[in-house]
Amino acid sequence: MKSSLMGHVLAGGVLATSGCQVVGIKAALPPEPLPDSPIIDMHCHISGVGDDGSGCYINPRLMESWKAGPYLRAYGISRKILERDGDQAVVKQLVEWVRASKHVDGVVVLALDMTLTSAGEFDRERTEIYVPNEFVATICKRFDCLHYGASVNPMRSDALERLEQAKRDGAVLIKLLPAIQHIRLDDARFIPYFQKLAELDLPLLTHTGAERSFSSADHDAGDPVALRLALDQGVTVIAAHMATTGSVDGERFMDRLLPLFQECPNLYADISSLTQVNKLGYLNEILSRHPEVHDRLLYGSDYPLINTLLTSPWYFPGNLSPGQMWRLSRTRNPWDQDVQLKQALGVPASVFSRPAKLLGLSLAEK
Ligand SMILES: [Zn+2]
Repeated sequence: MKSSLMGHVLAGGVLATSGCQVVGIKAALPPEPLPDSPIIDMHCHISGVGDDGSGCYINPRLMESWKAGPYLRAYGISRKILERDGDQAVVKQLVEWVRASKHVDGVVVLALDMTLTSAGEFDRERTEIYVPNEFVATICKRFDCLHYGASVNPMRSDALERLEQAKRDGAVLIKLLPAIQHIRLDDARFIPYFQKLAELDLPLLTHTGAERSFSSADHDAGDPVALRLALDQGVTVIAAHMATTGSVDGERFMDRLLPLFQECPNLYADISSLTQVNKLGYLNEILSRHPEVHDRLLYGSDYPLINTLLTSPWYFPGNLSPGQMWRLSRTRNPWDQDVQLKQALGVPASVFSRPAKLLGLSLAEK
């Protein structure tokens, strides 16, 4: 919304060449101008180490792995800054970038609940990342451009009360990541949880597809067929990443998700992470071959991953001209580059404006 014209100019189509092959694919759909209504990124992560009392936790296994450095850089900080300024350094940089973005008006910041032991306690060994609701709710109250995405592990004995609390605190959705929370969404014990989500009108954003961002994960938990239980309870379900990557019994997770859109009008999917190098081809496939789902797609970034080498305009020589890729690579703001890249690849304008509408966010409200 902030400045839709620039992206339109940038997205002008040019025949692409790749090596000696003339590809001529361009975008899957011709680029559209960005919408005049607000653009909200409904899939934005945050994390912290909790040294400043934020309550955040990162498993030492992950903190000591090679992934820690790129993650910190993606958040725009270093270990030194983190030690000096605490987790608020991550918040400060996030807010700076969102405010400076020409295109994005706000982001839904996602809490991430812990893995629980069989006794219902914090499983520090199996929890990869814990981002408490209180931490995210507090920063969302402080900054207009941040919207609260809560997370409540359905295995908690007080899960239903926590959902109510999240709603009272202004949560616009509930986020789950079954592969690292060690839960399966087709567990019949979760029916009251899903009924509560439907009653509170809280959409469920849940990871679908394989999960590669952590030190260990239960990939089968990303099977979208498991969403059926929540959908049948009337929950608005958002399949994060459109179940790209991963398969079961030789059938791609995405192919298991697609038929559900016909059957369930309450099913949506986000396009976060679909420009990552490990998912090349999926966005093109969805845009060119599955027009029937376009009115269910939501814009999301998967920040901070948009700020790592996992994504780059240079990965699209079959879709974009060298000039387009160069101009996009010069766009320094992570959200502006993400929006402009997805727009250039043919993501329809309505996908960018849909999160604000679905989540009932109007800028005047905050
Ligand atoms: Zn994510």
